[in-house]
Amino acid sequence: MNATGTRALLRRLPKTDLHCHLDGSLRPQTVLELGRRFKVKLPADTLEGLVAHVQVAPTCRSLREFLDVFDVLYPLLRRAEAVERIAYELVEDCARDNIRHVEVRFAPELQRTARFSSEDVVEAALKGLRRGLKDFGTTSTAIICLFRSHGPKLNRRAFETAKKFFRRDASLDEPAVVGVDLAGDEARYPTLQYAEFYEEARRLGLWTTCHAGETAGTANLQAALDLRVMRIGHGTHLLESPALTAEVVRRRVPLEIGLTSNVRTKSVSALEAHPARRMHEAGVPICLNTDDRGILGIDLTHEYGSALRLGFSPKELARLSLGSIDFVFLPEAQRRRLRRIFEREIALALGMEAAVP
Ligand SMILES: [Zn+2]
Repeated sequence: MNATGTRALLRRLPKTDLHCHLDGSLRPQTVLELGRRFKVKLPADTLEGLVAHVQVAPTCRSLREFLDVFDVLYPLLRRAEAVERIAYELVEDCARDNIRHVEVRFAPELQRTARFSSEDVVEAALKGLRRGLKDFGTTSTAIICLFRSHGPKLNRRAFETAKKFFRRDASLDEPAVVGVDLAGDEARYPTLQYAEFYEEARRLGLWTTCHAGETAGTANLQAALDLRVMRIGHGTHLLESPALTAEVVRRRVPLEIGLTSNVRTKSVSALEAHPARRMHEAGVPICLNTDDRGILGIDLTHEYGSALRLGFSPKELARLSLGSIDFVFLPEAQRRRLRRIFEREIALALGMEAAVP
């Protein structure tokens, strides 16, 4: 199959995006418009000029430098109208990518102000997701991020907000909060500092994920596994520890992979050095995700294309996509609904493959 045909096939494959940051998914054009609308000073006043400040170039040196982009974005994100709009537009962008279900994560404490509470942030995001579902058909849920550099007081407030909006019986028909994540600078703030939240989440039935093993070392991965986190964000360094790899395989803990993200943050030296293929061959459950589609200037079809370069075939990618439904933070009956859609659409998409010379 030629490159255009393959790309069309990858776009047409039904996909999930289970690791997607709301604040990393803004369209540059929207950043520009929100800046004008709210009279927030931006580092540039043309789209061309702005892209250099809101998208991370391949020359980005570290995760820290990557996180600096958010300094430009955050002044825009502390208003209900902006949050609702970016959530809505994210669902539209997902639908274009044939993402059928997206789990959108954000840290409400980073967006909160005296007049815009954590609850307001979540409500605005859910409103945008609801509107997106109605107009574009892509289903979604929300994951609340605790933030590593925040102290216990702010993280407690974020956690209480998650509890307030959490729906144990969440469904595809109505976006709700389903779980919690831990984001931010893992090199400086070890995972075990946040153990109480993961223990409480488990008691309450919230689904859990945790950024871990994205920067050097496996200590945070070990901690995430010790805390019985249900999925791991990135886990790029997992294979450095045969013991942890064996544990992940045995317990079937999925890794939420972001290929381009890992390259840009220098979590890996180059795409070709990414361990995703070796993880897959070792039996590690993985799924492919965008992480920060706006900042990276990518979509999930692009990421599936990157996986091809690592040696995955289109059929294997279809299987990965279908398999990712097992990792979705929703009750099994809802996953079954998604599976039925995926099985039908994958058969159609692969049928298309046969028709392409
Ligand atoms: Zn992430």
